[in-house]
Amino acid sequence: MVSLGCPKTLVDSEIILGKLTGAAYELTHKIEDCDVALLNTCTFIQDAQKESIDRILELIALKKRKQIKAVVVMGCMVQRFPEELRRELSEVDAFIGSGDYERIPEVVEKVNRGKKMMHVGEPGYLSSAQDRRVALTPLHYRYIKISEGCDHICTFCTIPGFRGKHRSRTIDDIVSEAGALCQQGARELLLTGQDTTYFGKDLSGEFLLPDLIRAMDRVKSLEWFRLLYAYPACLTEAMMKAMRDSEKMCHYLDMPLQHASDRMLLAMKRGITQRRTHDLIEKFRRIVPDLTIRTTFIVGFPGETDKDFQELLDFIAQMRFERVGIFTYSQESGTPAADLPDQIPEKVKKERYKVAMLLQQQVSREHLKRFVGQPLKVLIEKKTAAHAYEGRSYMDAPEIDGAVRVTSAQPLETGQFYSVKITGSREYDLLGSV
Ligand code: SF4
Repeated sequence: MVSLGCPKTLVDSEIILGKLTGAAYELTHKIEDCDVALLNTCTFIQDAQKESIDRILELIALKKRKQIKAVVVMGCMVQRFPEELRRELSEVDAFIGSGDYERIPEVVEKVNRGKKMMHVGEPGYLSSAQDRRVALTPLHYRYIKISEGCDHICTFCTIPGFRGKHRSRTIDDIVSEAGALCQQGARELLLTGQDTTYFGKDLSGEFLLPDLIRAMDRVKSLEWFRLLYAYPACLTEAMMKAMRDSEKMCHYLDMPLQHASDRMLLAMKRGITQRRTHDLIEKFRRIVPDLTIRTTFIVGFPGETDKDFQELLDFIAQMRFERVGIFTYSQESGTPAADLPDQIPEKVKKERYKVAMLLQQQVSREHLKRFVGQPLKVLIEKKTAAHAYEGRSYMDAPEIDGAVRVTSAQPLETGQFYSVKITGSREYDLLGSV
């Protein structure tokens, strides 16, 4: 299995492997040893599409050299470009849409016998606690998809097109899966979806995230859980207070803001203004003083003037976010923004990217300095050298944030928590000793 893209696709890939269980199947991590190679694609921006195509071509080359028998391509890019992929990549044995994972065993069976197949139906697979999963992350941290799809209409975004409308799972179903993953060794769970703050709205007309947070606190042997992909316009005071009062929820929030100029926020149809964003974050920080906010911004959106960009820089400097990712705008076919006038030249996008990242580097460096001399609870991820380890604090989600570089005379166990005295800081990482 080659799983590209975001944690939601990773969960899908784990579930797909979970459907290929039993005597007939064996998972290998050496691609040249497999009969059937599965590739779960990503398509949300052009760079992701390019990576997906490159990986498919690699698999086709292995098939041409008779090192593998068959190639099955799945997920978001298949859902978005089914006919183009079938036409351009005819060597691929099967194409499966992002909502058709129930069919995987039948597909693998048939392509292994030389059949060609294509199943692209309704987008977005809403998993449940009944779905068996084969872990593609270390067992001590796991992702849980609490919902699928999105009802928002951001003008730069293609995701609703290939993930469908927003659908929430029930709280009982999520808690049951959480319990099972903790029995398999999970100590940290990451709640994900396209918009996790919209959770429950389709079930009861209410945002049910505060209820889910309280329910997650009752999951045995769970140490930490954190929330990814929040949508600012759906953030509520009830959710903020539920985080404050939670025993196990990390005071961490991943919440893409995308821009800060009202002109750009309007053109992006984000449904929020700079003032309201500012006030929401100030309120959240009053309710949860040690809150860590990870956010992302897009630079080079069509029509973005120097003044708009300066407003974004001023906002980043003023709000001092703990973690920031910057994307250059990607003109995606099928989105309203792709047809807007005043598309920004790539050169300008790249310049703005550099300026914004440099500013954030400074903000992050000053932010982390405050932790020197303090103790921090750290989850050890791996040993990096003799007496040296890499771990994460509540401020670090896996794979996207910084790390805590830990030294210890005593051996430390991966997947275990330790109290670490912070002795130093860098741009994005902390240094410490047990
Ligand atoms: S919230 Fe906006 S950016 Fe995020 S998936 Fe939905 S439409 Fe796309």
